Amino acid sequence: MGIKVLKFGGTSVANSYAMQKAFDIVASNNKDKTIVVLSACSGITDKLISLSETCLQKNSNEYEKILNEIEKHHLKLVFELFWDPDKATTYMKSINFILQSLRQLIEGVRILDELTAKVKAEILSYGEILSTNVFYHYLLFRGFLCFLLDAREIIETDNFHTNAKPNLLKIEQNREKILKIFQNYDLIVTQGFIGSWKKETTLLGRGGSDFSASLFAYSVDADEVQIWTDVDGIMSADPRLIPSAKPIKTITMDEVAELSFFGAKVLHPETVKPAVIKNIPVKVLNTFNTDSLGTTIVSSNSLRNHAPTINSMILLENCYFLKKSLDLNSKNIAYYISLLNDNFDKLLKISFNQNYLYAIAKGEKYTSIDESLTTEDFFVDRVDVLAFFGNNLSKTDSRTIGKLMKIITKHGDKLFNHFYFIVSEKSILLLAEQGEGKLLLQECHSTLFEQ
Ligand code: ASP
Ligand code: MG
Repeated sequence: MGIKVLKFGGTSVANSYAMQKAFDIVASNNKDKTIVVLSACSGITDKLISLSETCLQKNSNEYEKILNEIEKHHLKLVFELFWDPDKATTYMKSINFILQSLRQLIEGVRILDELTAKVKAEILSYGEILSTNVFYHYLLFRGFLCFLLDAREIIETDNFHTNAKPNLLKIEQNREKILKIFQNYDLIVTQGFIGSWKKETTLLGRGGSDFSASLFAYSVDADEVQIWTDVDGIMSADPRLIPSAKPIKTITMDEVAELSFFGAKVLHPETVKPAVIKNIPVKVLNTFNTDSLGTTIVSSNSLRNHAPTINSMILLENCYFLKKSLDLNSKNIAYYISLLNDNFDKLLKISFNQNYLYAIAKGEKYTSIDESLTTEDFFVDRVDVLAFFGNNLSKTDSRTIGKLMKIITKHGDKLFNHFYFIVSEKSILLLAEQGEGKLLLQECHSTLFEQ
């Protein structure tokens, strides 16, 4: 029997409809020992943050309002999930008990008139404490034997309470505690996002539940992590721009990191690392569309010898193309790079040879570009950037690259400075004339993925 870690994000436990979907997925996964890691119901962590920000205000009852909203949300959830009124009352009591202790914590903060990072972490942990309690009781209600594990027992961290780093060594040692529970139970429910330092509550940072899932998998050497969310996986393009975008079947860690560097909203690569370094595949799946196969994230080594492939593309509109000629009088490259860093939000790419320095940059930091760039004789122009991501892309003689070249030849007029393109192993950037990016992206997606 293997061990699987199933993580359900905020939208997958947002309301009773979502929780039932999550329940169906957990219930159908009965061949393995399972650790279910839950986020707070969507929006609740934000409410807890507002609560911690307003609870010290003297002449305001804003904090009361937020507490009531949090209460109402969870009581409604219990009321809708437990259709047997007798049992609902019992479960309602246990949820009420947790809500009461949150109220007491807030009262304490108001009396002391002080909010430390330690207490803030404690307040924010209530989102996950509540969601896991509801889900745990729902599993019992539906006849599933399971164990509610306090994640703080396993996920030990440093003492940076609201943005803590996990202690991998301790987490690995804590595996024994999990294996012991598995002697009597097949199913464990636990919290994402929260950890502990010497029994004090700590948090892994916003969106930290993915990290938790991957850390639990790391601890017990799980066979698989499933990240259940509300999209079909990591997509070949933004579905708002390309409605025919499809989930990528397999993607490497490096590719996820590259996508996230270029601004795509994907999993934070650091959060899946603990699983991937142990060669545990991480699947991204859709709670609301279980027919979709999702995306599997694998270690970068595993696709090393594969043929070049492009898996996805994104569009970055209104970027900057910069070029500067270099000669004996030029200053050193580091100087120019720091000048560019001072002027732009992000340098997407820099390359140089003996004669020129090229850069592609996103968003100016200030309202206008610094005069220093003009003084240094930089050529500056606006472009739309099409970024393609995949594996082994430096092998330019491949069929995939051939297809891209065809598009380039066909649409030369839409491209900036004819065909400009910079290649690395994981990404290719194509520069389009400003305003031409969207159409070109659609053309590229259909040529590469839909024919
Ligand atoms: N509930 C936490 C947050 O909203 C953690 C998570 O959802 O992953 O950031
Ligand atoms: Mg989340």
